[in-house]
Amino acid sequence: ADAARVPALVVGSGYGGCVAALRLAEAGVDVHLVELGMAWDTPGTDGKIFANTTTPDYRSFWLRTRTKQPLSNFLGFPLDKEVPRHTGILDAEEFSGITVYQGRGVGGGSLVNGGMAVTPKRENFGSVLPTVDADEMYGVYYPRANAGLGVATIDPDWFETADCYQYARVGRKHAQRSGFPFLFVPDVYDWDYMKKEQAGTVPRSALAGEILYGNNAGKKSLQQTYLPRIKATGRVTISPLHRVTTVTPASGGGYTVVLEQLDTSGAVTAIKSVTADKVFFAAGSVGTSKLLVKLKATGALPNLSNEVGRGWGDNGNVMCGRANHMWDATGALQSSIPTAGIDNWAAGGAFAEVAPLPTGIETYASFYLSITKNPNRAAFSWNAAANKVDLNWQTAWKQPSIDMAKTIFDKINAKEGTIYRTDLFGVYKIWGDHLTYHPLGGAVLGKATDNYGRLHGHPGLYVIDGSLIPGNTSVNPFVTITALAERNIEKIVATDL
Ligand code: FAD
Repeated sequence: ADAARVPALVVGSGYGGCVAALRLAEAGVDVHLVELGMAWDTPGTDGKIFANTTTPDYRSFWLRTRTKQPLSNFLGFPLDKEVPRHTGILDAEEFSGITVYQGRGVGGGSLVNGGMAVTPKRENFGSVLPTVDADEMYGVYYPRANAGLGVATIDPDWFETADCYQYARVGRKHAQRSGFPFLFVPDVYDWDYMKKEQAGTVPRSALAGEILYGNNAGKKSLQQTYLPRIKATGRVTISPLHRVTTVTPASGGGYTVVLEQLDTSGAVTAIKSVTADKVFFAAGSVGTSKLLVKLKATGALPNLSNEVGRGWGDNGNVMCGRANHMWDATGALQSSIPTAGIDNWAAGGAFAEVAPLPTGIETYASFYLSITKNPNRAAFSWNAAANKVDLNWQTAWKQPSIDMAKTIFDKINAKEGTIYRTDLFGVYKIWGDHLTYHPLGGAVLGKATDNYGRLHGHPGLYVIDGSLIPGNTSVNPFVTITALAERNIEKIVATDL
């Protein structure tokens, strides 16, 4: 093992990790940013960096030999297929009661997500982060996050005419006819680029159905926003294909961090050790929770709070499709970037996005991802016999989410004389209730940590990702994760360095 000492080590390069690395480096601190996944800066065998959603290949999944697509079936046929085992971009991590989808690579979830960049309504913020000053968040940190991420809203005139949003206009019509408020969902996609895609003057990305396994153009992931700024500081060393396995107090102060280097088959090729004065956990809600629960249980960090691993939620994610009448065609060309939302949060506990079903053919289907106010919370625990961390979420805990989503779609179906699709998640199965895209919690702010993410029990250790948020953000989470990280790192830079 080679010994090295760094002032700050950041575990994971998603939203929280990138905010931490940038702001520390700007404050003059040298940072080692460690990332489990690949760099995603080199074209594959087809000349493209990222695989298309409709043709998953070796790049698409994290160390699986068979795809596990969120939409598993179509017209009754299973869609999954064999792929070579590779350190691909999307991890479908299976716990006993839920599959948690996560991004793997430099840029974390920003590489795979839909880019929907939603700031919660202020009236809901008290239940999202009850211990955080809302005035500061809405005055300073949400604006900072929105600017840093490049968030923008679709040109409403163009929306009315673009073929690729016919599905969203149908979704709006049905929502409005049932009396639900409709709104545009902001995104980090470059809307001018999308206009050019529709006009046929640039290579298609959103209009070629790219999402889930990366976008080759158009979407501003962290690769286009925070990461160039991080590199420009000259103070951040990024190590892709390295997994942090242990963090433990070092004899001379600080923490000894053990890293496994991986090859693209997932095999460990080297074990390294770094000593860091400060360690920032930004491995995502699941990654950070798993590390902290293991490190407490195995005695590496014995003083961590009993709150570590608790307060985990799925942001109430649930998916469904509706079968439209033949006169409500949703379009063969569908932008993979959703831009339409139905807000029934106050009355029914559900905020639904009109999602694409980019199959390339007319499906007469409307497809939705709902975020709901599901009250269930799960906990991670160390399973010593199996040498792994378990999560006690149960599939049945999604029932409140289904009930809340039904406050929207039962009403729309009744009004339109339509029915739910039963062919998208299996055979005769309406609800996509087996998964989440939005893991949150496991090291909740003000419980496992203080009110700025300092872990109780071990000074110099911080959490700065989605695990701080207690299970639900009322909308898509990454703007809130980024804004909270901006708030916390500003305090930490000012007082702890
Ligand atoms: P992440 O972005 O998950 O980053 C954590 C990083 O840490 C990862 O890169 C991981 O590989 C790395 N890591 C994990 N363990 C280790 C370890 N032991 N050592 C080193 N590195 C490690 N949110 C929205 O707001 N809008 C959307 O439209 C949206 N769509 C989504 C679509 C999909 C398919 C998915 C999967 C997610 C979507 N999300 C969306 C959710 C959003 O991407 C996440 O909430 C966000 O990425 C979480 O940020 P984070 O900083 O907490 O962690």
